[in-house]
Amino acid sequence: MGFKAIYFFEPELLLVIAVMTSLEKIRPPDEGSFIEYVDSGYRVPSKPIIAYIEGDGIGPEVVGSARRVLDAAVERVYGGSRRIVWWELYAGYKAEKLFGTLLPEDTLKGMMLSKVTLKGPLETPIGTGHRSINVAIRQKLDLYSNIRPVRYFKGVPAPSRYAEKINLVIFRENTEDVYAGIEWQAGSREALKVIEFLHREFGIELTPDTGIGVKPISEYRTKRHVRKALRYAIQHKRRVVTLMHKGNIMKYTEGAFMNWGYEVALNEFREYVVTEKEVAELYGGNPPPGKILVNDRVADNMFQQIITRPWDYDVIVTPNLNGDYLSDAASALVGGIGIAPGLNAGDIFAFAEPVHGTAPKYAGKSVANPSATILAGAMLLEHIGWVEASELIWRAVEETIASGKMTQDLARHYENVKPLSTTEFTDAVIETIKRLR
Ligand code: NAP
Repeated sequence: MGFKAIYFFEPELLLVIAVMTSLEKIRPPDEGSFIEYVDSGYRVPSKPIIAYIEGDGIGPEVVGSARRVLDAAVERVYGGSRRIVWWELYAGYKAEKLFGTLLPEDTLKGMMLSKVTLKGPLETPIGTGHRSINVAIRQKLDLYSNIRPVRYFKGVPAPSRYAEKINLVIFRENTEDVYAGIEWQAGSREALKVIEFLHREFGIELTPDTGIGVKPISEYRTKRHVRKALRYAIQHKRRVVTLMHKGNIMKYTEGAFMNWGYEVALNEFREYVVTEKEVAELYGGNPPPGKILVNDRVADNMFQQIITRPWDYDVIVTPNLNGDYLSDAASALVGGIGIAPGLNAGDIFAFAEPVHGTAPKYAGKSVANPSATILAGAMLLEHIGWVEASELIWRAVEETIASGKMTQDLARHYENVKPLSTTEFTDAVIETIKRLR
C-alpha cells in the first residue's frame, strides 16, 4: 500500500502501524496514502486518503454532493496530479446498524489516521437518549476550536439589511464550558451530593429539585483557542479580533476567558495587535495600518452589534455556549444555516461539517441544500493547503446561487425561481466549476 512507502523510516511510522493494526472491522483503501503531521504542519501526498462520515438524516445526500464537488474542483485545479482517495468511516445510526454502536472505536482511529474528515450531521435526541456523538468526537480528538465563516452570498435572500457587509469568522471553543458534559439530573444521588457539599462548604442554599451543571473554563484551553484565532487572523489578513464573553456576570469563567485572551494577544502577538485603548490614546481612534485591533464585547451586546454594525467585526472568539448561539444567529443574518459550514480543529486532527443538523423531515427526498457541506469541504481543502481548489468551490457555489440556481430553502423566498433538487444543484455547481478559471 502507498502509505507504507510514505511512512518508511518516518517518526510517525510506529504510531500509524499501531493504530492500523488495532483496527478491528474496517480497513483503509488500498490506494493513496495518509496525510502526515510533521514539524507542526501537514505533509500532504498527491493522493491523500481523506475520511468521510455520511451521518444521519440528510447527511448521506449532502455529504455525497460535497464529495462530488470536491473531486470536481481538485480535478479542475490540479488536473490528474492530485486526487482525493475517500475512505468511509461510520458514526450514528449507520454505525449502530453495521457495528452495534453509534461511535465505533475504529471510527476515531480512522479519523486519527486520516487527520482530516468530512462529516455529515449526526442526530442527538433532546432531553433523553444518547449524548451527542459530535461532542464525543470533538472531545476525544481534542478538536478545541470550532471555526465558522459567516458571509453573504449574492442571490441568497437574507433578512439583514446589512447582509452584504457581513464577513465574520467565529471561533467557538469546543471542549469546555457547560458543554463539557458535567451535569446531574435533579434528584439524582450525584446532584443531591453536590447540593449537600455546596451547603456544607459554602453555605449555598439550593433546593433538592435542582439539576446541576458545571461550567469549567481553563487558562490552558482558553489560551490555545485564542492563539489559534489570532494566528488565523494574521494569516488571513483580518482587521479585528473580538473576545466575546459574559464576564460582567460570570467573572471567573467568562471574565477570565477575556483576561486570558488579552494575555495571549499582548504577550505572544504584540507586534501584530493593538487594543481599543491604545487606538484611542495613541492612534487618534484609527488602528495603524497592518495591525489587528483586539477588543472585547459582552455577549448580549455582541448579538446586537452583529445586527446593527456588522462591518466593525471580523474574527470573533467565544467560549463554547456563546459561540453556539452566536454562530447560528450570525448565519441567519446572511440567509440561514443551509449555507453555513464549519471546521473543528485541534493541533493535529480536524473535521469539517455543515453547521445544520440532520433535518429529518427532508431526509431521503433530495431537497436539502448541500451548500453548507460543500463549503465545509472547501474549508477542509484549505486546511490541508489545497487553497486554490478551496477558493474555486467558494466561487462556484456563490456564482451558481447568484445565477438563480438554488434549492427550495432559498428558492421559496422568490416568486419565479424553480427549486432544484439536491442532485440538480450539485450538478449545477460542478458545471460552474468546469466553466470558471
Ligand atoms: P436542523 O437539522 O438543522 O434543521 C432545522 C431546520 O433547518 C430544518 O427543518 C430546515 O428548515 C432547515 N435546514 C437545516 N439544514 C438544511 C438544509 N441542508 N437544507 C435545507 N434546510 C435545512 O436542526 P434540528 O431540527 O434542531 O436538529 C435535528 C437533529 O440534528 C438533532 O438531532 C440535532 O441534535 C442534530 N444536529 C446535529 C448537528 C451536527 O451533527 N453537527 C448540528 C445541529 C443539529 P425548514 O423547516 O424551515 O425548511
